[in-house]
Amino acid sequence: MENLVAVALEEVSKHYGGGPEPVAVLREVSLRVSAGDFVAILGPSGSGKSTLLNLVAGLDSPSAGRVLVGGRDLAYLGDNARSDLRLREIGFVFQSFNLFPTFTAEENVAWPLEFLGVGWREARRRAREALARVALPPAVARRRPAELSGGEQQRVAIARALVTEPRLVLADEPTGNLDSETGQTILALLRELNAERHLTVVLVTHSALAASHAQRTVELRDGRIVREARGTVTIMFSDIVGFSAMTERLGDERVQEILHTHCAIVREQIAVHGGFEVKTQGDGFMIAFPSARRALRCAVRIQRTMAAYDEHAEAPVGLRIGLHTGEATKEGRDFFGRSVIVAARIAATARSGEIWCRRWCASSPGPRRSSPSTVSGRWS
Ligand code: ADP
Ligand code: MG
Repeated sequence: MENLVAVALEEVSKHYGGGPEPVAVLREVSLRVSAGDFVAILGPSGSGKSTLLNLVAGLDSPSAGRVLVGGRDLAYLGDNARSDLRLREIGFVFQSFNLFPTFTAEENVAWPLEFLGVGWREARRRAREALARVALPPAVARRRPAELSGGEQQRVAIARALVTEPRLVLADEPTGNLDSETGQTILALLRELNAERHLTVVLVTHSALAASHAQRTVELRDGRIVREARGTVTIMFSDIVGFSAMTERLGDERVQEILHTHCAIVREQIAVHGGFEVKTQGDGFMIAFPSARRALRCAVRIQRTMAAYDEHAEAPVGLRIGLHTGEATKEGRDFFGRSVIVAARIAATARSGEIWCRRWCASSPGPRRSSPSTVSGRWS
C-alpha cells in the first residue's frame, strides 16, 4: 500500500559549525506532509527554509531528529539510494537553479530522463513539452543558461523538476525571479498537477501571496515553526456587476451613494449572521463564515435586500456572490489557501443577482445556477 505520509520531519534540528557555539538553523521542527498535499513554508530570508528543503531532499543531514520521505528514514539510505530517490521520486527546484552551464536549456531539462533510461529523442520531446508548460519559447530553449534571464533560468529549473513526473516536488522560491504574471502561471501549474495527478508539493517562499496557492501554510521563523493554522471555513466573495462601467455612466457622486448603501446592506447582514469581514475593496467584499449554512443565509438576505433597494433605484445595481467551503489558513486577520481562490473564481462566474456555490454544483445533478429564491426555499 502506498504510504500516505509523503514527508515527515520529527524533531529535526540543524546546526552549522562544530565549535563551542554552533549556529542553530533549525530547532526541533516537526512536520508531516500527506501525499497529495500542497504545503507552503512561509518565512523571511534566513529563517531556515532552504535548509529544511535540502534536508527533505537528502542533500544534507540533520544534526538531530529524523527525516522520512515516503516512509523511508533518509539516515538509513546510502548515497546511491538517496540519489535514486531524488531522481525518480522528487522534483527539486533549487533557489539558485543549479543548471549545467554547458548544456542548453532543453538539454538541462532532458538529462534526468536520459539518466532514467529514456531514449535521447523521446527525452528531448518531453523536455520541449515541459518547457512549453512553463511558457519558455522554443528559441530560448536552445540557449545556454548564461544567455538566459533569471526568470528564464527559473522556468528551466521548474521544467527540469517536473519532466520526470515525480510524486513530490520541493520548490525553493520558485517564483522569486519571475514577474507576477509568470509567477501566477507557475503556481497555477503546480496547483493543477497537485489536483489532477495528486502531486505532493512543498513550496518554500517568503511571499504570502505565493503561499496562498497552497492548501496549508506553515510559518517558519528563526528555525522554528511559529504558526500553523488550518480549518474549515466558508469564504464569500461579493461584488457589483459592471461596477466600473456604472461609474462612467452614473458619475462619481451617484456611484458613491450606491456604494455606501451596498456597504451598509452587506455589513448589516454580516453582523446578523456572524460573518467576519476579511477585506473590502471598493465594491468587493471578502467575508469568512464559520459555517456554510450561515454564509448561505447571509448571501440570500444580502441579495434580497439588494433586490428591494434596486426596485427603487433609477439604475439597476446587480450583486454577484460566490461561496466556497473548504480548508483555509488563518493568519492574523487574513485567510489564505485554495478555498479563497476558489471562492473568488466562483464569484467571478456568477451573474447579477445570483449566488454560486461549488459544493452544490459538484453534488447536485441539477442546473449549476441557483437563483436566490430557490436557494432560500431550501435553506431558510
Ligand atoms: P532561508 O532559505 O530561509 O533564507 P537558509 O536555510 O538558507 O534560510 O539559511 C538559514 C540560516 O542558516 C542563515 O542564517 C544562513 O546564513 C545559515 N546557513 C545556511 N547554510 C549554512 C552553512 N552551510 N553554514 C553556516 N550557516 C549556514
Ligand atoms: Mg532560501
